[in-house]
Amino acid sequence: MVNSKAKYVEVELEKYSLKPFDRFKRVMKRTFKGELFVGLGIVFREMVRFNIHTTQYPGEKLPISPRYRAIHELLRLLESGNERCIGCGLCEKICISKCIRMDTHLGEDGRKHISEYTINFGRCIFCGYCAEVCPELAIVHGPRYENSSEQRAHFGLKEDMLTPIDVFKKGAQKEYPGFGAPSPDADKRIKKTPLAY
Ligand code: SF4
Ligand code: SF4
Repeated sequence: MVNSKAKYVEVELEKYSLKPFDRFKRVMKRTFKGELFVGLGIVFREMVRFNIHTTQYPGEKLPISPRYRAIHELLRLLESGNERCIGCGLCEKICISKCIRMDTHLGEDGRKHISEYTINFGRCIFCGYCAEVCPELAIVHGPRYENSSEQRAHFGLKEDMLTPIDVFKKGAQKEYPGFGAPSPDADKRIKKTPLAY
């Protein structure tokens, strides 16, 4: 419906000359205004200074927050290097995407051992519940966030997530202050883990 009360404002358009020379003059006037040289000056100044403000990814990466929930990692006990995971299954049960699967078996030492531990990263929503519920600080969200895959269902296997033993021996296993990790003031307590077997 047409609004009969609407007030229309007539716009006065500048009358352009359509003669070729007048058009040429207009283009030159618009193109070579002072602002153009100011902009060019800034560009050349930054080029000479070699100030690179762009992160040169993937060679250079920005630090991520410790609270960032990236790909999971399975950690080892600090004293023995054994796997921290005791196969309690809490992470598997709490997972709302049902993407954690594990197999356990009884070892010769009479303890429960983890045969397989997988996370389907195609389904994981990185909620962090598994890391929060883990009583052994075994599963945490690490700093690895590049988890793109050519396959729709990308599984993280135990070998992919567990700290490699040679990395552990070099003392390079990291405790993350994010999901699944102890609070910053708890460092003293995890110098010696209660289950040091
Ligand atoms: S982060 Fe959430 S969805 Fe992903 S495995 Fe853990 S509990 Fe499941
Ligand atoms: S909650 Fe922790 S200890 Fe229990 S099965 Fe999961 S990772 Fe292992």
